Formats: sequence, structure tokens, C-alpha cells
Amino acid sequence: MHKVDFEMVEMTLDVMKYAIGRITHPAPELGKPKKEEELKALVGETITPDGIGGERAFQLFKEVLIKATIPIDHPRHLAFVPASPTRAAVMFDLVTSASSIHGAYWMEGAGGIFCENEAMKWLVSLTGLPKGSFGVFTSGGTAANLSAMVTARENWRKNPGNVNRKGLIITSSGAHSSVKSMAKVIDCDVLLVETEEQMTAEALCETINSLDAQQRDRLFAVVATGGTTNAGIIDDLFGIAEICEAENLWFHVDAAYGGGALASKSARPLFHGIEKADSITIDPHKWLFSPYDCGAIIYKNPELAKEAHSQEGSYLEIFKDEGAHGFNPSDYQIQLTRRVRGLPLWFSLAMHGTDKYSWAVDQGIGLANLAGELINKHPLVELVREPSLSCVLFRRKGWLPQDYTHWTYKNHREGFALVTPTKYKQKGVYETVARFCFINPDTKEKDISMILDSMA
Ligand SMILES: *Cc1c(COP(=O)(O)O)cnc(C)c1O
Repeated sequence: MHKVDFEMVEMTLDVMKYAIGRITHPAPELGKPKKEEELKALVGETITPDGIGGERAFQLFKEVLIKATIPIDHPRHLAFVPASPTRAAVMFDLVTSASSIHGAYWMEGAGGIFCENEAMKWLVSLTGLPKGSFGVFTSGGTAANLSAMVTARENWRKNPGNVNRKGLIITSSGAHSSVKSMAKVIDCDVLLVETEEQMTAEALCETINSLDAQQRDRLFAVVATGGTTNAGIIDDLFGIAEICEAENLWFHVDAAYGGGALASKSARPLFHGIEKADSITIDPHKWLFSPYDCGAIIYKNPELAKEAHSQEGSYLEIFKDEGAHGFNPSDYQIQLTRRVRGLPLWFSLAMHGTDKYSWAVDQGIGLANLAGELINKHPLVELVREPSLSCVLFRRKGWLPQDYTHWTYKNHREGFALVTPTKYKQKGVYETVARFCFINPDTKEKDISMILDSMA
């Protein structure tokens, strides 16, 4: 065999062996970041004119670099929004890469896009949006929110009076940072409804009524949150939907984190009103067990998204040709060339069935409730508020903010757990508290009690 080919076979086997090992290893070591200089000193020059060879590069990755990352699927990684991709989805992520599918246009990606769309139909069915509603997979919630905001703004600007107007959106202080940051991208102003719990219809109404005439003319959308990232709080979606309808405003629901809970029979009623949204963001890479990165944006009227996002170009004309007719994901969000990133979700859904997904989401909710019970029984800690979705906020009696910081670092340093504090506002006062967010169905009661005990 030719030497290069031989090396390639070896390499492939090594990589597959590693991937299989990682997929079947339920709890790899909790890694820790290192300074760039330290990493550089450990691995040396890796990009050289002649190359250092696959074996060496992979060895450095396995022995040094991967250890400077935190496996987000660790059962005691309960910080931020963790993730827990199914083994099926991870395996199929490899297949997605190996298949080299261009996911922008049906002409090139038909078979892959077909699969994405089958998974998308399930996702849309969870929302209860009317017939004709549809969506596409994006790189994440940020890109999904941006795609929706552009669509809303372009739709608003169809009115000639709005063409040169700077838009205004209303959202809550509990909304995700990406909403505020994407508003900068589209250069529109954001008005925050101050909330400690959910954004209510009354509070929204009050804010709208407080606008002057010029502001009211610029207002085109309301962004509600279907599960705040910090505390799992769901806004009054039904009430807000009614106001948006009456005021002729675009109603976007950011359910990037919470959207997975639509698959749970017990949690679904909390989202009452989401079926009236103009657009919805859901991140399968958060609570629908997909590998990074996979978000989704769903529209009640996808045609409006197409009017806003469809790209024209002479070299793209061919894609509009006869045999290429079909759904073009690039027409509905901001990205042109795209990975068929919904494919791993499709495979995993096809393999396990949708009931398994409902079960796994319910596990997260169950773990949050269990943590609530353990906290109530534990002498050192108390709940800050009842668990919501899979988020639990609690305080260690007597602790100052720096105590939470030390505790987080200590647990992480020891490779034991990653649980981070957050801030939560009650009666106008911010308090530093501890926070759990459960995604991984393999987290056990023992993991939770050990973490609580670590606050002694
Ligand atoms: C995580 C999150 C986002 C951002 O999603 P990315 O996938 O990180 O871009 C937006 N909104 C909410 C509510 C989120 O929880």
C-alpha cells in the first residue's frame, strides 16, 4: 500500500476509536481551562510548513488540549445550559461531516434537507402553530433570533412610512442577552419591561401605553421568553399574544432553552399561547439532545422569512432550475452555505422515537424537582424560588458572593462538578445565589446531594 494511504487508514481507525471511546464513556474527566501561553508551552508549534503529522497532532489533542475543555455532558456539569447529545446524534454528526452535504439548496442537499425537514415537522408540531408554519435549523439561538428579527423588521418596512424609520422592539429584562445584542446588529432600539418573574400582559400593556407617538410608530415586535435562561421562567405567552394581535405587532417567542420542554406533556401547558407566535426560536443543542451546533427558527408564515432572507446572485440562478425545486433552507435565515445541522437530530429521533425525547425532557424536569426536595430537606440551603422547567435557584444560608465563587472554583479544581452562581433579583434587590440547570438524564440523585454537601 502507498505510504500516505496507509497513514490515512491508521488515522481513520485512531479517530474512530477515539470517537467511539468518547461516545461510550459516560463521564469523562471534568477538564479545566489553561492560559494560552501554558497550552502553547505544552504543545509547541503545531502549524508548520511540513506538518507535524496526524499521529503527533492527535496525540497532543488527546493528551493536552481536550483536557483544557469541559465536557458539557458531564452529569455534574449543571452550569449555564449544559447539553447532553444522544450517542445516536453524535455518531450521525460524524456521518453528516463525512457525507459532505451542502445544506443551502434542495438541488444539492435534497436527501439531507428532507431529513432535516422531517425532524422540523415534529418540532413545529410541538409548538401547535397553524398549518403552513415551518422552520429551518440555524447555528443556534442567536442566529435564530436574528433571523426572526430581520423578518419582522422587513415585514414592518413594507409599509412605505417605515422604510427609513429606526425600529423599536419590546422585551423583558429577563430576556437573553442575544436579543439585545442582535437588536444592535439590525440597528433597532430595545425597550425592557422590568420583570422579576414572568413578563405579564399587563406589564407589556403599560409599557406600550407609556410610549410617545413617535416611539409607538417605531415599535414593530415583542420578544417574549419561553423559559428564561437564568431561572426557567416562562412569560405570559397567551396574554402577550393577544396584545400583539390587537396592536399589530410581531410576536416572537425565544424558547432557545425552554423549547425542549414542549415535548413534555406536563410542561406543555406552561407554554399556552406559543401557538399564536409569529416566530419561535428553539435550540435542539440545548434541551433536545443534539450536538453543537443546532438551533432552529420556526415561522408562522415562512413566506415572510423568504421575502426577507432569500439571496439573489447570478451564480445562484442554477439552483432555481427545474429538477432543483424544493425547500431551500437558505431562504429562511441569515446563512447561505450551511451544514445540514438538523441531520443528527433526525437520525436520533428516527432511531429512538419521539416518546423517548419526551421521557428525557421529563427527566430534566424531574431532576429539578428532586433537587428542590433535597434542598428543602438540607439544613444548609434553601430555595430562592420553586424550580421552574429544569432550573433551580437556591442559596447557601449565610454565604456572601465570594463564598459562591470559591465554592465553584474548588469543585471545578477538584474535577468534581461545575456549578456556577448567578444573580437573581427579588423585591428590587440582586442577590448572588447558586443555580442548577438539568439537561442530562444521566444525572443522579447522588450527584445532587454530593454537590449540596460540598457547600458545608
Ligand atoms: C442560549 C439562549 C440563546 C442563545 O442561543 P445560542 O444557541 O447560544 O446562540 C438565546 N435565547 C435564550 C433564551 C437562550 O437560552
